[in-house]
Amino acid sequence: MPELPEVEYTARQLRASVIGATMSDAQVFWERTIGYPDIAQFLTQIKGRRIEGVRRRGKFLLVDLSGEYFLSIHRRMSGNFLLLPMGWQIDTSTRENDPARWSVKGPIFYNEQAELPVSADSGKVSVMAPIAPATISLSATTHCRVCFSLHDGRTLLFTDPRKFGRIELWAKSQEDEAFAFMGPEPLGPLFTPISLTEALTRRKTPIKTTLLDQEVVAGLGNIYADEALFDAQIHPLRPANTLNHDEIQRLHASIIAVLQLGIEHGGTSFNDYRDIWGEEGSNFDHMRVYQRTNRPCLTCATPIERITVAQRSTHYCPICQPTHQKQFIQV
Ligand SMILES: [Zn+2]
Repeated sequence: MPELPEVEYTARQLRASVIGATMSDAQVFWERTIGYPDIAQFLTQIKGRRIEGVRRRGKFLLVDLSGEYFLSIHRRMSGNFLLLPMGWQIDTSTRENDPARWSVKGPIFYNEQAELPVSADSGKVSVMAPIAPATISLSATTHCRVCFSLHDGRTLLFTDPRKFGRIELWAKSQEDEAFAFMGPEPLGPLFTPISLTEALTRRKTPIKTTLLDQEVVAGLGNIYADEALFDAQIHPLRPANTLNHDEIQRLHASIIAVLQLGIEHGGTSFNDYRDIWGEEGSNFDHMRVYQRTNRPCLTCATPIERITVAQRSTHYCPICQPTHQKQFIQV
């Protein structure tokens, strides 16, 4: 599931590429992807709106539209955005010809000039935009659930193999209410050792479970919670309210560090996550415990263990992350 770094990276790429573009139309191929309002209203409301900003709140991607509206996108398990330059066409004939394929894979996109390199210049991509690959692979265009056409000829696809992703359209005035449940942004000024202490002392749940609670801190999921706990040398089953001052200080710093590294590496792509050019992020190569079960700990060489905490697989080093607070022995 995309977590904060993956959503942040996508937001930065989109910000550099689509701000100022106007949506001419949208097509919906999987109806449940549109969570609010109903599809007819959604399509009517989208038309002619200019993209004014791209932001992130927790794991939600927010696209500001003219007229004080915004799109709120939650990618859930496998949702991705893919930006196609001018020249791509859409073939929806499998809707009638092959309904089984249509239901799974959605429409077919093709580029009549696919042999030509697709450069970052096409579609008036800003010079600040991350470099587009030489070609966008056709496979990246499968599983399209919603397709936004831009006035400048580009197409923004929301692809989602697992179909759990949701796109909603809200008035800006409803934003505060919509995100009232969410805790502080870990890369923002409200996330401090003091705010983390206040959140943890009220909770007896294992620290791993607690970090996944979006009320405690926004945007953390399974990957970065495991990595942050390893970095802070805290056992994932420690009850949240038993962490001492030093441990909370370390955990606060570790959460920020692993998220920033994730963004720098373009996100973690061990399964479905891709960037807006269909490319994988490289952060999976930098994992220290996540998905490294039985492989040697990079610090002490002890095999990494995997347990289930609140139905989520959890990876940790039994030596570097002791069950109890480390006893410091005076020499
Ligand atoms: Zn270790």
